[in-house]
Amino acid sequence: MTVSQVQQGKVVVGILALQGAFAEHQVALQKISSPRKVCPLLVRTPDDLAKCDALIIPGGESTTIALLARLAGLLEPLRQFTKTKPIWGTCAGAILLAQAVENTKKGGQELLGGMSVTVARNGWGSQVESFEAPLLVDGLQDSQTPFTGVFIRAPVIQALHPSPDHPPLEIIARLPVGKLPKSQSIVSPDEDDTDPRDPRTIVAVRQGRHMLTTFHPELTKDGRFHEYFVRACVLSSLF
Ligand code: GLN
Repeated sequence: MTVSQVQQGKVVVGILALQGAFAEHQVALQKISSPRKVCPLLVRTPDDLAKCDALIIPGGESTTIALLARLAGLLEPLRQFTKTKPIWGTCAGAILLAQAVENTKKGGQELLGGMSVTVARNGWGSQVESFEAPLLVDGLQDSQTPFTGVFIRAPVIQALHPSPDHPPLEIIARLPVGKLPKSQSIVSPDEDDTDPRDPRTIVAVRQGRHMLTTFHPELTKDGRFHEYFVRACVLSSLF
């Protein structure tokens, strides 16, 4: 952030715009209310990234986003960015932010890391197993009103890895009890899925200035997760 941006109270929130639902995040950010003016910026080059105070990595296809980031010379700048600035990864973006991923394509997958979480790609199954679930989220404005989580070939959180060397992991949202989708890859039809501590029910996590959601808040008209990211991750770490 430049000195003049701080003086004017503006924050530049970049959106990685290589592939996926970046335009929807841009629209969502333009609509939110925030104590500081939020300026969305589509990021396609290292120079774009250098102008950002924070970054959103959208849903899409994590392997494609990683490949395009490498071709654009963005992979290392993004890894550096995770070390100092807030990032929110949604769905494919959540995969890129994880420290480890299971169920990768042959040959593995490049990650940025930044959050102490293991995820399984496509953990709920294929596109036809997409689903919506009502999420009650304490940290949001109007928290009694459920947030509609849209899950499209979403990753499943397999494990959190708390450590004294990293900021604590804060679970922001879980699927309602008994709502784990039954699919061969993640929950077998006869499995008991009512344990409220089951990591696979976690769908939104914050760790210090970073956040991941395995669903797509940008595909709803509800801007509360965007407001939450700006308030809890971005403004609290910048001002
Ligand atoms: N399954 C996709 C991936 O591996 C993520 C899907 C999404 O972002 N909706 O990247």
